[in-house]
Amino acid sequence: MLTREDAIAMENCSSDALNALCKSAAALRDQTWSTTMTYSRKVFIPLTNMCRDTCSYCTFVQHPDSGKANIMGREKILAEVLQGQKVGCKEVLFSLGEKPEKRYRYAKDWLATLGHSTMVDYLTEACEMVLSKSLMIPHVNAGTLTYDELKQLKSVSGSMGMMLECSSDRLMKKGMPHFGCPDKVPSVRLKTLHDAGLLDIPFTTGILIGIGETWEERIDSLLAINELHLAHGHIQEVIVQNFRAKPGTAMENANEPDVNDMRKTLAVARLLLHPSISLQAPPNLEEDYVAYIGSGINDWGGISPVTKDFINPERAWPQIESIASTCANLGYQLQERLTVYPRYLKAPTRYLTPRLQNAMPSWRSDGLAKDQHVSTQLTCGA
Ligand code: SF4
Repeated sequence: MLTREDAIAMENCSSDALNALCKSAAALRDQTWSTTMTYSRKVFIPLTNMCRDTCSYCTFVQHPDSGKANIMGREKILAEVLQGQKVGCKEVLFSLGEKPEKRYRYAKDWLATLGHSTMVDYLTEACEMVLSKSLMIPHVNAGTLTYDELKQLKSVSGSMGMMLECSSDRLMKKGMPHFGCPDKVPSVRLKTLHDAGLLDIPFTTGILIGIGETWEERIDSLLAINELHLAHGHIQEVIVQNFRAKPGTAMENANEPDVNDMRKTLAVARLLLHPSISLQAPPNLEEDYVAYIGSGINDWGGISPVTKDFINPERAWPQIESIASTCANLGYQLQERLTVYPRYLKAPTRYLTPRLQNAMPSWRSDGLAKDQHVSTQLTCGA
């Protein structure tokens, strides 16, 4: 394990020191997670691409005047969910912009035609529909939420998520990526993580690297997450995501973190965070994603055989078969997990409502999915 000072001292480490750091991180991963690498087979539902925030790197968000702003209707949601179910998906990842109805009349009026006054209420109805009309489990990624909103959504979802991104207020300043984004105020995001802990919600969070934060701020963001986990035990996974510059955004010419920056951040994360927290990095945002295995990750996140990554639509997920063979070449086995990690599944009365416990797809004694799919096609059930 590392101290804050040790971690900060790694900022400009030599390549030998980086290799040694990664080796320690990979060893700790092996000790806790063995040779199993996991992913969650999911359908990605972008419930709305409208958002009251305007992060400088975002291409997901659409202004109501763009002609591309959308709120997905019930029929389309259900059709996507059932298509995913046919090919073995078990998780429905609802991802959406934050509270567009508080900023745009257009969003408010659209929601009214759906019979709702808030996006959280429509999301709750959509999750309810997934639970009653499919065999899949919702994972909700709705950004900052109040205690009451989290409680409402816990009754219709297995787990939830929200990237902390960065705990520094500096990124809120003029000229920085979160300027004018009320939902990116770090204390607001930390409050959501705290309230999720009070409610025993299995929670996913993480950091977004390369958006203007310093190395020290990156370390402090990881430590803030860890502190919340030590207090509540609810952080099931931490994602380290690398910023990618996208044409048409205010940050289109900004430098992107390279693979060694990702290796270093992943290794430090593995050694700073409690070992029971799953460490994840997305395989579709770095060509050399194989290097992540040697840096201490144990999970690739949600991968869909049917829907694209709507947040990074230009970057297709690698085929699940190719991730499986990449893992196998290094002595690791790709296995399918559920949206709720084994440790939380095994303490169901604390973390899941009775309805969610009953709805959960079958799982093995190790807490991973009983019905395993490690290919893009529907090929096997174990
Ligand atoms: S909060 Fe999310 S959806 Fe909204 S602008 Fe920022 S990155 Fe985009």
